[in-house]
Amino acid sequence: MAGFFEKLKKGLEKTRNSFTDRINEVFQVAVYIDDDMYDELEEALITSDVGARTADEIIERLREKIRTQKISRVKDVKPALAEVIAETLNQQEPAPLDFPLVMLIIGVNGVGKTTSIGKLAYRFKEEGKKVLVAAGDTFRAAAIDQLEIWANRAGVDIIRHQEGSDPAATVYDSLIAARARQADVLLIDTAGRLHNKKNLMKELEKINRIIDREYPSAHKQSLLVLDATTGQNAINQAQEFQSVVNIDGIILTKLDGTAKGGVVLSISQTLGVPVRYIGVGEGIDDVQEFDAAQFATLLLDSDLDLEQFEHEVKPE
Ligand code: GDP
Ligand code: MG
Repeated sequence: MAGFFEKLKKGLEKTRNSFTDRINEVFQVAVYIDDDMYDELEEALITSDVGARTADEIIERLREKIRTQKISRVKDVKPALAEVIAETLNQQEPAPLDFPLVMLIIGVNGVGKTTSIGKLAYRFKEEGKKVLVAAGDTFRAAAIDQLEIWANRAGVDIIRHQEGSDPAATVYDSLIAARARQADVLLIDTAGRLHNKKNLMKELEKINRIIDREYPSAHKQSLLVLDATTGQNAINQAQEFQSVVNIDGIILTKLDGTAKGGVVLSISQTLGVPVRYIGVGEGIDDVQEFDAAQFATLLLDSDLDLEQFEHEVKPE
């Protein structure tokens, strides 16, 4: 769809400004490809929240590439770096989705779970899928109402119970409904209290058991939502979740609101889990499938034939 790329570009403006500027500065100052240049690139990566370990790995790979490709001019280092970043991100590529699909959306409060469900519901619906959402965050009435507003916006059905009811009961009903109505996609919202790890684990385990029992033929995806504005903290959060539940992919939200988008690079690296979607705004169509090559190119502001690029990206 036209404008897809422009939208991503705009959503990543803050990250691009800081990241691109820092990297460009290094290339402007560097005369030779030497240790100083590598050190400064590494520092630029770390200040953009790429994470020390990942930054180190990127620089090592870059050195290797420069060696094997016999690159000798500073001006040829940037495209090589873009390639290395894309390769690093591509080590974790999400598998294609299968249907019928049950997506369990987890994450701490405020990261953007409910909003992402609204966006994804709309997106799947636009693709011609029959979509159902389940209000599994039953702790606050406002949370249920919020999901209902998104369901209405997206034009999809919602399964909801009273505030304070057992989330597992909502999930159970939604699975029965998804089967009966032959929905292609069921998106399940959950509560995000992590302060009591044991409770959260128990609840997520229970929900997972119910899904496996009531809808064994569905493909299940547990997606963890992380807020990009929290930078490296997002990684710690993810590790907490990973220690208690299986995670198939990440939804990284609020990339539009941060200059720390470099965190994308370390998330997939550190967790060994692919970033499946990114959130680039609060609107209903502000979710995109994550594309490593595209992201790397944008991040480094490499010269691009935009017209041509529009055709290469996956259709929305
Ligand atoms: P939840 O507690 O995890 O369900 O989080 P919500 O979905 O309620 O979102 C919390 C806040 O983050 C809301 O104000 C959303 O509008 C905002 N938000 C979610 N995703 C994005 C995003 O991609 N970009 C921006 N700028 N804001 C977002
Ligand atoms: Mg919510």
